[in-house]
Amino acid sequence: MNDSRLEAARAEARRLTGLGIRGVALTWVDNAGLTRVKAVPVARLAQVAGRGVGMSPVFDVYLVDDSITSSPHIGGPDGDLRLFPDLDRVTPLAAQPGWAWAPADRFDQQGRTHPACQRQFASRMAARAAERGIEMRMGFETEWVVARGTDRAGGADGARGAAGTRFAGAAGPAYGMARLVELSDYLGDVLDALATQGVDVLQIHPEYAPGQFEVSVSPADPVGAADLAVLVRETIRAVSVRHGLTALFGPVVTAGGVGNGCHVHLSLWREGRNLCRGGDGPFGMTRQSEAFLAGVLRELPALLAVGAPSVASYLRLEPSRWAGAYQCWGLENREAALRFVAGAPDDRAGANAEVKSFDAAANPYLAAGSLIAAGLAGIDADLTLPAPVAGDPVRGSGERRLPTSLPEALEHFTASAVLREALGDPLFEAIAAVRHAEAELFEGASPQEIADATRGRY
Ligand code: GLU
Ligand code: MG
Repeated sequence: MNDSRLEAARAEARRLTGLGIRGVALTWVDNAGLTRVKAVPVARLAQVAGRGVGMSPVFDVYLVDDSITSSPHIGGPDGDLRLFPDLDRVTPLAAQPGWAWAPADRFDQQGRTHPACQRQFASRMAARAAERGIEMRMGFETEWVVARGTDRAGGADGARGAAGTRFAGAAGPAYGMARLVELSDYLGDVLDALATQGVDVLQIHPEYAPGQFEVSVSPADPVGAADLAVLVRETIRAVSVRHGLTALFGPVVTAGGVGNGCHVHLSLWREGRNLCRGGDGPFGMTRQSEAFLAGVLRELPALLAVGAPSVASYLRLEPSRWAGAYQCWGLENREAALRFVAGAPDDRAGANAEVKSFDAAANPYLAAGSLIAAGLAGIDADLTLPAPVAGDPVRGSGERRLPTSLPEALEHFTASAVLREALGDPLFEAIAAVRHAEAELFEGASPQEIADATRGRY
């Protein structure tokens, strides 16, 4: 590390110490979609910025229940990686006094990029788009269900507690003001914490399912948006703990009910111009945006292994639940996997596309990078979009259902030349191994058992 970066790290450590920060949490998200952490005392931050923190590469093949599988390139107890905090993103955590957070990148002992580093994968894909003159903007929506007390379901001990779980804000109707009233202190604290951390919140509201809420934030560059997805989720979790509540982000909380999505909004920009509007493609999108979205639509069955990566994801991905279960697109159609939003005529930033099928079991860095890879492949092949779909595709004729199980999505993933090339073999194989092992893990489990074992894990 050069002297100026080292000096910047020392200055950052002094600033944090002055703010009363004692520890810095360095997070990465594994291929199972769980945010893992190593923390250091603030006094070590400069050293860590220079040399990183040691960690095992075996985390790349961890499963949702903390069991471990292996893959052709990664697995086993050997080897060491270095975890480096992104100093530009260090954030004091408002709901965890004394703590700051930084997302981390992973390198090997020689300082080379770890080929399976998910965050650097997202950054490589953003750079690929930039090579074509395209600046991507993305935003992840966060949905979660609030449970009263400690929801022991989904614990590593495999405790089952669905029957006894009480949801907070459950009495009020879907999208009901009554729910906001019941949890107004809690939701106010979520807003406060996010604002203190500099997160620009667009909306917060009760969702459809009992005890379910959603928060959405301003779009950012792909890596920044994925970082925000992590920060927003961990902030909600921390505020929940302070209120004696538990935030559940898993794809399904109650089998058979509406689940938690983690929809991804995206738009393409060039020199300050939004390419999702002002063109002569469908609903005003430019040709380039159309080809990009067509690439995403084409790759969706394979992309599901990244964006809907859990066995539980397929309990959520059902028709008529606004989850995007069909491989189609439409203008503001909440049942289409790809919802195009044209935006108001005077709202330059309003036009964008929303990928609805993804959920919070997805690693947001993998999700962002894979969507860009699929979209750029669409541009390279000069794809066009099929006719848009209006209304619920379940009632239409002939719309294609997306994979209905993890093994089915995995089959598409392993056959995807686009994703294999973009991810690179070590990362691609590790993801495939984790998906395969998780499918095996839940073989024979009932839907409610799957929901119980996963809903509190993400
Ligand atoms: N909860 C729904 C899902 O599973 C989404 C509801 C909405 O459109 O916001 O994706
Ligand atoms: Mg929602």
